[in-house]
Amino acid sequence: MYQHVQHYAGDPILSLVETFQNDPRPNKISLAIGIYFDNNGKMPLPNSVLTAEKQIGFGVKSYLPMEGHAGFRTEVAKLILGADNPVLTENRVVVVQTLGGSGALKLGAEFIHRWLPQTKMYVSDPTWDNHRGIFEGAGFEVGSYPYYDANTIGVRFTQMCAFFNTLPENTVVLLHPCCHNPTGVDLSPEQWDTILQIVAERKLIPFMDMAYQGFGGDFDSDAYAIRKAVAMNLPLFASCSFSKNMSQYGQRVGALLVLAPNAAEAELVLGQMKLNVRHIYSSPPAQGGLIAYYVLSNKELLIQWQTEVYEMRDRIRQMRQKLYDVLSRRLPEKDFSYFIKQRGMFSYTGLTVAQVQRLRDEFAIYLLDSGRLCVAGLNDGNIDAVADAMAAVFKT
Ligand code: PMP
Repeated sequence: MYQHVQHYAGDPILSLVETFQNDPRPNKISLAIGIYFDNNGKMPLPNSVLTAEKQIGFGVKSYLPMEGHAGFRTEVAKLILGADNPVLTENRVVVVQTLGGSGALKLGAEFIHRWLPQTKMYVSDPTWDNHRGIFEGAGFEVGSYPYYDANTIGVRFTQMCAFFNTLPENTVVLLHPCCHNPTGVDLSPEQWDTILQIVAERKLIPFMDMAYQGFGGDFDSDAYAIRKAVAMNLPLFASCSFSKNMSQYGQRVGALLVLAPNAAEAELVLGQMKLNVRHIYSSPPAQGGLIAYYVLSNKELLIQWQTEVYEMRDRIRQMRQKLYDVLSRRLPEKDFSYFIKQRGMFSYTGLTVAQVQRLRDEFAIYLLDSGRLCVAGLNDGNIDAVADAMAAVFKT
């Protein structure tokens, strides 16, 4: 009956995690998956989030509305757009609680494909693998725009601008407002100003995917591009995720924001979002939404949580610095400053596929084939081994 069903080879990142788990070598180190680990190699639960969980408790939770918890939706808009953003009082920001950042991308992609008359969208080259899958799954033809420059380990900004300048009206461009996944290479505020000006002139639709707010600069500066797009009154879609910054990986907490031209159109957009939710999964998970709401709406917990995220950010920065220090000492002829310039959990290391393979085979250190390293997987206990191994393979 199912013989004709096409075989699925598996997700490249998740398959690598499985290979790692089956690796018998006791000294193995995984830097492949995008999860924040603390200095003891454990997934921490921020104290602020733990307090919220205790307050909420284990009692029965009824269904949330299709669009999610009302208080959560209000607080998320404040976190992303800034609490005093004038647009918040204009009733034209649509917010839907979603199943993580992935769910927000899916809901936004399906809405755009159904209601706006174009089928083409572009992601950065490279991008998080699943962007392509999610948008193709919603019916889009997905292309890529120039982004990462392997020679400078920076952005091909001139080419990126030139490419955007060729795109027809209503084309969707997926952008990472902070902590670009997989490269760690971000645009500067000035570069954002330039790109968003092109987006405005060519009437493109910016879809900003922010899965790492708080891990780059701070909660406000990480949202710079989104807030600028709102100030420019662009037809913005923004997805966010609390998987990493609240350690809510498995609870599936995220949100989709849409900036509509006016309150009446916002109502229409929200209605179709609700309908789509109803037809797919009916309503989002209550527990994670309540936890995030509790943290975001309580002034003290909010400050505590943001401080805890900054501690994670700072630990990642220390690991970057240490990697830079060791590698620069070992290979003084090579410039490793990109490790400290990059932001967020990931780093494009500049390692080739063959070098990544060597790290895996000879040193039991797992990176993605692209050379992406999850800096948040480094700690005081493994960084020397990783830096030594990287220095060895960089030499070849
Ligand atoms: N966008 C980006 C850029 C991501 O890195 C991730 C998570 N890896 C997501 C979206 C999805 O977030 P979630 O895990 O909350 O679905």
